[in-house]
Amino acid sequence: MQILDGKETSRLIKQEITEEIAALREKGAKVPHLVAVLVGNNGASITYVDAKVAACEKVGMKSTLVKLSDTISEDELLQKVKELNEDDDVDGFIVQLPLPKHINEKKVTEAIAPAKDVDGFHPWNIGKMMLNLPTFLPATPYGILQLIERYNIETTGKHCVVVGRSSIVGSPIANLMSRNSYPGNSTVTLTHSRTVNLAEITRTADILIVALGKPEFITGDMVKEGVVIVDVGITRKPDKSKKSGYKLYGDVNFEQVKDKAAFITPVPGGVGPMTIVSLLKNTILAAKGK
Ligand code: NDP
Repeated sequence: MQILDGKETSRLIKQEITEEIAALREKGAKVPHLVAVLVGNNGASITYVDAKVAACEKVGMKSTLVKLSDTISEDELLQKVKELNEDDDVDGFIVQLPLPKHINEKKVTEAIAPAKDVDGFHPWNIGKMMLNLPTFLPATPYGILQLIERYNIETTGKHCVVVGRSSIVGSPIANLMSRNSYPGNSTVTLTHSRTVNLAEITRTADILIVALGKPEFITGDMVKEGVVIVDVGITRKPDKSKKSGYKLYGDVNFEQVKDKAAFITPVPGGVGPMTIVSLLKNTILAAKGK
């Protein structure tokens, strides 16, 4: 079994991005600027946004964190989005999800200018992705593709089973893995909570991409020998022995599958860091697009 090391791979990609930004600076060109909007005090969201801002700093990219109270109205948030759309200094921005219940996430996502939508969640960008046109790929699927590519994982003709059909992970990665390109050209089965006999299907997977948000859901008997496993899930469970007060769990029971898998992403240190570098790459693309 070989680890698909997202931490190390993302470090290498960050190095490349650092060089690219240093070259822009030397030329006197504008340094790409990412803005992250955080609404409220959701612990996981704060951790994710802090990690994104820290990654920008590390590569020399400009970043701004906009913190808004969870009592902000939908109209006020939409006004903030409009300001960011119109601010020429901002190349790309994200509004960290989930949003408080009184705010319609769909409305906010659709209000972001597609050219600044570096999360790749806007329907225009999703549509372009489906048509295989150049666009911002959603950060997590993009991160998975880069990890597969850097490890030269063969995808052509392979049976790729995706567990979970969310619009930010499962559905787009299923589409991307079936595209006529590399990584891609896989025969994809997209599964979800209504799938019957899931284990029978996952056992036929050459590549298994799991994003359902249920800790250690995929067990040893659900995979075949030689499978490549990408575990997207991140669930926090309270754990007093940890400094942070919680432990992170993936959707795959690592101990049970590790001796069968040819490659596997760990949690943490797998898909998570790759998601962050994809956001940085999308921001550079947004700046170039201007
Ligand atoms: P969602 O909750 O939006 O979607 C979960 C999907 O899993 C749904 O399609 C659901 O099916 C499916 N599902 C639920 N139960 C089952 C089941 N028993 N069998 C088969 N399918 C099932 O999740 P997300 O895609 O947003 O996130 C999934 C996980 O990935 C979470 O742990 C999240 O924290 C993590 N994540 C990690 C990221 C990273 O950077 N590493 C980035 C984004 C997410 P149905 O549609 O029928 O309800």
